[in-house]
Amino acid sequence: STPVVVVTGLARAAHEGVLIKGGRYLELLAKAKIATFDKTGTLTQGRFQVVHSEAVPGGEVNSMLQLAGCLERTSAHPVAAAIVGHAASLGLALDLDVSESEEVPGQGVIAHVAEHVVAVGNVRLMTDCCAEDVAVPPSVAEWSTKGATVCCVAVDGQLAGFVAVADTVRDEAAAAVAALRKQGVVCGMLTGDGQGAAAAIASAVGLDAKLVHSQLLPEDKLDLVEKYKREYGALIHVGDGVNDAPALAAADIGIAMGVAGSAMAIEAADVALFTNDLQCLAPIIGLARSAHRKIL
Ligand code: ADP
Ligand code: MG
Repeated sequence: STPVVVVTGLARAAHEGVLIKGGRYLELLAKAKIATFDKTGTLTQGRFQVVHSEAVPGGEVNSMLQLAGCLERTSAHPVAAAIVGHAASLGLALDLDVSESEEVPGQGVIAHVAEHVVAVGNVRLMTDCCAEDVAVPPSVAEWSTKGATVCCVAVDGQLAGFVAVADTVRDEAAAAVAALRKQGVVCGMLTGDGQGAAAAIASAVGLDAKLVHSQLLPEDKLDLVEKYKREYGALIHVGDGVNDAPALAAADIGIAMGVAGSAMAIEAADVALFTNDLQCLAPIIGLARSAHRKIL
């Protein structure tokens, strides 16, 4: 039977909006030595704004944004909403025919838009799908060093331009990371975004630079979770539960953020946060440790 302290611990956590799916996870939480975070939507708010866009020399920025906007209407990624909103705010018609839309996880989206094949996504998507070496111009690269995500747009296999989108770091992220580190839990990042954006956000929230990994596919996140589990013992991964499902499942403790209303995220995770507040992480580890001490 489950010791009373464990039941009390689970109930107290539930009261704070934290669902822990059993005493076993309380024990693993107590032992955790490392926490890895997804970036977009987890350390950041996941609400992007377009901060810069430009076409390749000789190209036309509005026609690039129109094609990108039409394509992104088919994507649920937070980057997509920013590009659609920006194109709409410029008065561009977003009603071109879109067909055969395909989302490439961790990379972007490709579809037929009117008579063109259009791709919007990271540099990796361009090299994979457009057989083109992408040289990001300095004007765009500068945004990435400030933490912006760089999206490339290709039309009919040719690079057409760039859109830089910026997200906001969650207010409580730095304090939440500092509290974990104080408990002896090292903190890293596993993101599909580019190196510049990853490094900027990591330094803003105080992550351990050697534990920051960028340009990852969902299966790369999983491999790194396995690697750190071997190196550190119990590992926590915190993600938004949609793109992060393999990493959440592989972690000793998968924590899904802001899951109110998402049954799928609750199912994938061992711990579900019904709030978006990262600052409840250190207290639940504290609670798990004290419940565990009382048992031993
Ligand atoms: P994270 O690991 O930070 O949550 P994702 O795995 O969701 O990021 O996505 C990784 C990267 O793939 C994004 O930073 C973005 O560059 C690109 N990407 C994914 N989906 C889209 C999309 N619909 N439009 C443009 N870019 C996208
Ligand atoms: Mg994410």
